[in-house]
Amino acid sequence: MQSFDAIVVGSGFGGLGAALTLVEEGRRVLLLEALNYPGGCASTFRRGDYLFEAGATLFSGFGEGQLMQQWIKRHQMAVELDWLDPVIELRAPSWRLELSSDRRQLVNNMAELPGAPRDGLEKFFEYQRKVADTLWALFDDPALLPPLSLGVLLRHLKRSPKYLPLVSLIGRSLESVAKSYDLLSFEPFRVYLNALSQITVQVSAAEAEATFALAATDYCFRGTAHVRGGIGTLANAFCEAIEKAGGQVIFAHRVNGLRNVGGDWEVAARGDTYRAPLVFANLLPQNLTELLTDSSTKVGKNLLQSTKRVEEGWGAAMLYLGVEASQIGQASPHHLELVADPTMPFMKGNHLFCSVSGAEESGRAPQGERTVTVSTHVPMKELLALSSEEQGGYIQAVQEKMRGTLSILAPELHRAIRTEMPASPRTFERFTRRKHGYVGGIPRRVGLRNYQGIFPEPILPGLYLVGDSNFPGQSTLATAVGGQRAVKAALRR
Ligand SMILES: Cc1cc2nc3c(=O)[nH]c(=O)nc-3n(C[C@H](O)[C@H](O)[C@H](O)COP(=O)(O)OP(=O)(O)OC[C@H]3O[C@@H](n4cnc5c(N)ncnc54)[C@H](O)[C@@H]3O)c2cc1C
Repeated sequence: MQSFDAIVVGSGFGGLGAALTLVEEGRRVLLLEALNYPGGCASTFRRGDYLFEAGATLFSGFGEGQLMQQWIKRHQMAVELDWLDPVIELRAPSWRLELSSDRRQLVNNMAELPGAPRDGLEKFFEYQRKVADTLWALFDDPALLPPLSLGVLLRHLKRSPKYLPLVSLIGRSLESVAKSYDLLSFEPFRVYLNALSQITVQVSAAEAEATFALAATDYCFRGTAHVRGGIGTLANAFCEAIEKAGGQVIFAHRVNGLRNVGGDWEVAARGDTYRAPLVFANLLPQNLTELLTDSSTKVGKNLLQSTKRVEEGWGAAMLYLGVEASQIGQASPHHLELVADPTMPFMKGNHLFCSVSGAEESGRAPQGERTVTVSTHVPMKELLALSSEEQGGYIQAVQEKMRGTLSILAPELHRAIRTEMPASPRTFERFTRRKHGYVGGIPRRVGLRNYQGIFPEPILPGLYLVGDSNFPGQSTLATAVGGQRAVKAALRR
């Protein structure tokens, strides 16, 4: 039986962040991944001559001094980034809005639309900037997040005047903040707020906890880029960096059991058993529970609570498209967010995120084509309440609605389609093994529960959960930050 200082189960960005931090701390690490490629929801997979991004397509944290950029530099990762402006183009039936990488430019773009309340927009975005600046400092420098050393506590004390205004936001919704600036009757702003809130904190502005949502509203402004070749390039570069620094990465090794033996963890995968005092499981809480094979192991309250909260979340319906390059005007990679009916919930094909690969990205599609990843939210409670057969029909109806929304709001993509591969929560379950295909972590609905997990705690002695159902939450950057934090907390213990 091989022994390690730590074993990481799963190479999503939570697992990658944890494994890279461990090797940087000089630990002997084994990373076990069930698939034969890394990245999970943020991977690039091959189908025939196409390389599709599985889920995530647009990433932040690449700006100067930010976490992803620091890692790329430190490990000389061979990753090319495409900086996009606009980062996203938001389209509704009667207007289009370019979401610039610059906040001032975004305000100007909004202010140019008919009926725009410029004054209120400027004031809202000024306030939003203050909140986001305070909270993103914690992302850019995860040392500021718990666990806290004395030095960091002192740094926080110095920053305390910045935190005070945040206290009044706790327990409020994003929409209520926007309302106080009298902006909600301006449709483009309302749609912008809901669209961004849905793809970041995974709920509408009316439901979203204001602190998290105001910070996430900075999504386009924080070193946000497209990864040339697809996000799998970055996931692969993380694996290479882990191996170069002395770690071991094994693909096609699904972990099927975790057992505590005399204080160490025994990890079973593909007929082999590996041993380590520390395990970082890059899994949903429900998947981790299934892996704890020793029936005497009692899982704690935290694991049960986060299992329930994941169940309040989402699945994804997808269309992976090969499109005729000559029909797409724009050569650069680009992202469209489409809202067919702004008065209806932003899910089930009414709201789409579409990411088009760049004309320069050789190898992503056959000659003369480009790839597009299209996604929409599927409410899992609604889906899972149906019989297995009904679920199939439900997903097909959502995918049909997606095609309809594409045809109206992105006709240039719709008429260019040459091949289409649909996918559903079941597809996500099959590939990433996430139970039932739950994705997007825990929705940040208003409430104090959002602040649980701010102090990383083991699930059982030496066993930590990482990934998007843990603080600070969803996105590749957030899960990588979470992986790093969990490791620092474990090593301090
Ligand atoms: C449709 C969609 C679009 C998104 N868009 C964006 C975006 O544009 N930008 C962004 O930043 N984020 C986006 N996200 C969110 C982001 O992708 C996720 O929050 C993040 O990638 C999740 O990472 P994770 O660490 O939780 O691990 P996961 O992605 O869940 O990966 C877990 C890994 O563990 C492996 N695994 C599972 N079980 C086992 C086992 N038993 N043994 C070994 N290995 C195992 C899986 O194969 C997988 O590789 C999107 C998500 C979806 C679904």
